[in-house]
Amino acid sequence: MNMPVLFIGHGSPMNAIMRNDFTQSLRELGKELPRPKSIMVISAHWLAKASLVTCMKNPEQIYDFIGFPPELYQLRYTCPGAPEDAHRVAKLTGYLVNCSTEWGLDHASWAILTHLYPDADIPVFEMSLNYEMEPAYHYDMGRRLRALRREGILIIGSGNLVHNLRSMEHDVNAEPYNWAVEIDEKIKSLLIARDHEPLVDYHRLGRGVSMAVPTSDHYLPMLYILGLQERDDRFAFVHEGIQNGTISMRSFILG
Ligand code: ZN
Repeated sequence: MNMPVLFIGHGSPMNAIMRNDFTQSLRELGKELPRPKSIMVISAHWLAKASLVTCMKNPEQIYDFIGFPPELYQLRYTCPGAPEDAHRVAKLTGYLVNCSTEWGLDHASWAILTHLYPDADIPVFEMSLNYEMEPAYHYDMGRRLRALRREGILIIGSGNLVHNLRSMEHDVNAEPYNWAVEIDEKIKSLLIARDHEPLVDYHRLGRGVSMAVPTSDHYLPMLYILGLQERDDRFAFVHEGIQNGTISMRSFILG
């Protein structure tokens, strides 16, 4: 059986401790998902000069943000790592990926997994973004990872398709900016049409893309998920919406 693959828009770390329509979507999704052997999260928050995977038995939970309320720093997600599966990824990709013990699990993982798998009893490892590479590299890496789906590994790309922190509003329910809605809608229709090429070449998505995707870190995790898409996969959005005026929470499942 092929495991499904997910792209999750994680938004503000506060979603880890909030209860809203987004966190509700994750809770419901978690109940429907099969129980994986392990979970690999491709993180928007692990930017490296290489493609790396965490190979620790017990990855450290990283609080990679400042100035948030104490409750957020008190949230514990103490899941085990999956060193064997992480090593397997390195082999599978023709050794384009290396093991690392320098990182851990940042909030791109635990802020969503706390809703998806609240018991923290499934092993988790992360993959970095090789931030020196072009978008096509990330799409190709997704293609190389397809066999993992048949090995019971759940792959999650965790980022945000539209993500502008400079213009973001404090209020999570703020009215979305027009350019955020336009680009989010454009991405939505390309996803439905399975038209991957313009999504890889995203700089040309049109007016508003420089505001909607000012840096690639939160966008790139999606390209792995598209690379993982196989012909017979069904496609569905598990959440749609824009938080803080500038952050698309659009999330989807393939499989
Ligand atoms: Zn983020």
